[in-house]
Amino acid sequence: MAPESVKRDWSINDFEVGRPLGKGKFGRVYVARETKTKYIVALKVIFKEQIEKYKLLHQLKREMTIQTSLHHPHVLRLYGWFHDAERIFLILEYAHGGELYGELQRSGHFSEQKAATYIASLTHALAYCHEKHVIHRDIKPENLLLDHEGRLKIADFGWSVQSTNKRRTMCGTLDYLAPEMVENRPHDYAVDNWTLGVLCYEFLYGSPPFEADGQADTFRRIMKVDLAFPSTPQVSAEAKDLITLLLVKDSAKRLSLEKILEHPWIVLNADPNLICPK
Ligand code: ATP
Ligand code: MG
Repeated sequence: MAPESVKRDWSINDFEVGRPLGKGKFGRVYVARETKTKYIVALKVIFKEQIEKYKLLHQLKREMTIQTSLHHPHVLRLYGWFHDAERIFLILEYAHGGELYGELQRSGHFSEQKAATYIASLTHALAYCHEKHVIHRDIKPENLLLDHEGRLKIADFGWSVQSTNKRRTMCGTLDYLAPEMVENRPHDYAVDNWTLGVLCYEFLYGSPPFEADGQADTFRRIMKVDLAFPSTPQVSAEAKDLITLLLVKDSAKRLSLEKILEHPWIVLNADPNLICPK
């Protein structure tokens, strides 16, 4: 039984904490088991001192509120949270398969079937988020996790909705930014559609489309939509068509989430057994 249906005022005494799963910028994530139900979760531990130092309490509260309200099979659940004198604990759905980024690194690039399956899963999840008026804006392979069956889960909602430009510059990942965000112009849901194009490219070729040696060059390549398709690995014309329809500078002209799901490349390649529309 999921923890949230059992009880709401949690403490660390309710959990047996196991091995570390990863290290975040503000703390660590551990696998843990709720003692009574034996339910396995991921426990994200954040030090209050860090949050206060960087004045991020507001953002963290936003992350928690947003992620708690989202219930979708491709969105990582946040079941609840609690705190003690020094730490804040987030009780998260456990993603046994770890980071999608790791899988991409191990295999270099994905097959068209695998890439289409992930893109379709993401599209369903984003359609759901957009319906709830949530723009993620930080979708990148590190923030995509996999469950025990290889189903995709979007994680890390901390930086959705609120302006993320500062943070992105801070952590140096520009590759996934839409032109309107690079230029700090007002933006809307279509920033996530752009990112789907970037990810689709990266899944198939193994590196993001606007990669460059320095941030300034990445900026320039994004602004020009300097898109090129290498000859290897070989990628189908349908996949390139979808990427081209998403990496469009004018956000209003990018392919809609609905149309992505109807695109022949998705229809032909995505594995329905790994995709949960809702
Ligand atoms: P933020 O982007 O909010 O600053 P972070 O990226 O620093 O956070 P997380 O992504 O939350 O930190 O966690 C760090 C790592 O721990 C992840 O990259 C992942 O490998 C692992 N991890 C996090 N949450 C889970 C989970 N629910 N299940 C399995 N592994 C997880
Ligand atoms: Mg992360």
